[in-house]
Amino acid sequence: MAKAKKSQPEKFEFRAEMKQLLHLIVHSLYTHPEIFLRELISNSSDALNKIRFRGLTDKNILDPNADLKITITLDEKKNQFSIEDTGIGMTKDELINEIGTVAHSGTLEFLQKLSKEKKPLDGQLIGQFGVGFYSVFMVTDEVTIETRYAEADSKGYRWTSKGEGTFSIEEIDRKQRGTKILFTLKEEAKEFAEEYRIKDVIRKYSNFVDFPIYVDKEQVNRVTALWQKQKSELKKEELDEFYKFLSNDFQPPAGFMHFNIEGAVNFKSLIFIPDTAPPTFFREDLEKTVHLYSNKIFIQDNAKELLPEYLRFVKGVVDTEDLPLNVSREWVQNSPVIAKIKNTLVSKILGFLEEWSKTEPEKFKKFHQNFGPLFKTGINTDFTNRDKIIDLLRFESTVTEKDQFTSLKNYVSRMKDNQKEIYYLTGENMDIIKRSPNLEYFREKDIEVLLLTDPVDIFIIPSIPEYDKKPLKSIEKADIDMDVDDKNREEALNENLSKSLIDVFKETLGDKVEDVIESKRLVDSPATLVSGKEALDSSMERMMKYMDKDFTGSKKILEINTRHPLIKNLSRINMVDSKSTILRDCIVQLYEGIQVLNQNLESPGEFIKRMTEIMVKATEK
Ligand code: ADP
Repeated sequence: MAKAKKSQPEKFEFRAEMKQLLHLIVHSLYTHPEIFLRELISNSSDALNKIRFRGLTDKNILDPNADLKITITLDEKKNQFSIEDTGIGMTKDELINEIGTVAHSGTLEFLQKLSKEKKPLDGQLIGQFGVGFYSVFMVTDEVTIETRYAEADSKGYRWTSKGEGTFSIEEIDRKQRGTKILFTLKEEAKEFAEEYRIKDVIRKYSNFVDFPIYVDKEQVNRVTALWQKQKSELKKEELDEFYKFLSNDFQPPAGFMHFNIEGAVNFKSLIFIPDTAPPTFFREDLEKTVHLYSNKIFIQDNAKELLPEYLRFVKGVVDTEDLPLNVSREWVQNSPVIAKIKNTLVSKILGFLEEWSKTEPEKFKKFHQNFGPLFKTGINTDFTNRDKIIDLLRFESTVTEKDQFTSLKNYVSRMKDNQKEIYYLTGENMDIIKRSPNLEYFREKDIEVLLLTDPVDIFIIPSIPEYDKKPLKSIEKADIDMDVDDKNREEALNENLSKSLIDVFKETLGDKVEDVIESKRLVDSPATLVSGKEALDSSMERMMKYMDKDFTGSKKILEINTRHPLIKNLSRINMVDSKSTILRDCIVQLYEGIQVLNQNLESPGEFIKRMTEIMVKATEK
């Protein structure tokens, strides 16, 4: 009876999410169906890495002396494809749980969104989302996996599925450890039964896989540890190819570094800076940054301990002789060797970027645009390298050309003789920022102001209280030293008139504002709002409100421009009738108008109504 049961395949259902995902994969158009091969090879390579690693300490594995390799067999006549590895294999549980679930939450939603936009799905993404195996359904309607886990008492299993919601598993007689995946190609994918095509794809995506890949007895990839070479021996094509292999990027990198470090710590490393941010960049969990090797043996492919979060955009390899061979993940986490490598790497990468900023300004700019928002956060997390990071920051300012940036150092070199502070203004976008009345004084006096629109800036600027002993100051603050020309004073309302008008402003606005004062900074605008000395600037407040709905923020100070014709008119009305409705309406309108500019007005209905009334009065006669 037991025997009969053994030959009876057991049926299983994929989980709901998996079914939807499979439906999407099977029924969507792909730009790169060839990716399936890269994904299968990459799974085999992972399985081979696992057994090699395990074999270092465990001599009881199945087939301890088997060659570590990947073999691809093609049958052009029957359109058949198979790939087999001598890796760790899978247990029955793994077949059920690993091949049958979506490992990363949100994957389905993300792929569905892309598919809804009716764009052809980029096969490349499938692999990056940890569902690489299923990319086979781009090229076939039914897949078989035969596998045996690398333990002497394990059993062999066959898994089959049409990708339509169910799969089945049966026990088979399999002598050797490892996994074989086989299928018949769909009509439109039959090119993948052709030897030259498969070899081409291997060279394109899998040339640097650590284990030999055979197609009809011929080894196709090169298996060279490129980072072990001398820098002078490295060729550009080779490096580009290696980068593409590591990163799954289609474009060559923007730049690379090669280190051969000897001394307190020993390691060789190749580090690349991508040309563009990958589509998965926002999903930190999916990004593979630096691969860690110990004496050419692969240890792990996303060694987070090797680099701080803010440098997560680089790709590369670190190979060290200083780790014990049976290194575990926990060991890596707490290792002083890794900590030393990390320090050296960080300082080398920052040095490289510094060099780039001088010799490759265009590349540096692109790096900043791609990865700046992440990179900047280093200021708040890497205190050792804070000053270096600050020097690498770039900002737009009132003097930079469109899409050009300045460093704080260059800003300081342009400061006026009597200028003691570095000025900045934050805002949602350049359009809004450039219209801020608070800039008028600075424009007139030709004083440079940094214009910050990246939301990250709002968080990092408070952690740079000064640069080169010059305090950084938001020009939204009330306590800014400003010179006012005598000529301007002559044009302004006299002290009595202005005091009387200010009283009416205060009375009308009541506790909406902290204070009303005469402005020194305004040139063309009648009024502006500024923050008190201790208050947050308005972008910071917006951010706080966003995070905490109950956050009310602090009251602002209203500054009025007593040289402005509108303010002068209001003063005239005030002389005649300080209770006049039009005077009061104009005051509220001025105040709310500034809130409109700052995108901060909560009740635009009232604002518009009042504006209509004012227009009616202005057009009455
Ligand atoms: P990912 O590789 O990103 O985890 P996949 O869908 O490609 O996602 O594979 C799912 C899992 O199936 C792998 O993590 C691994 O545990 C297992 N697997 C796939 N192919 C093999 C193989 N050739 N040998 C051993 N295990 C494999």
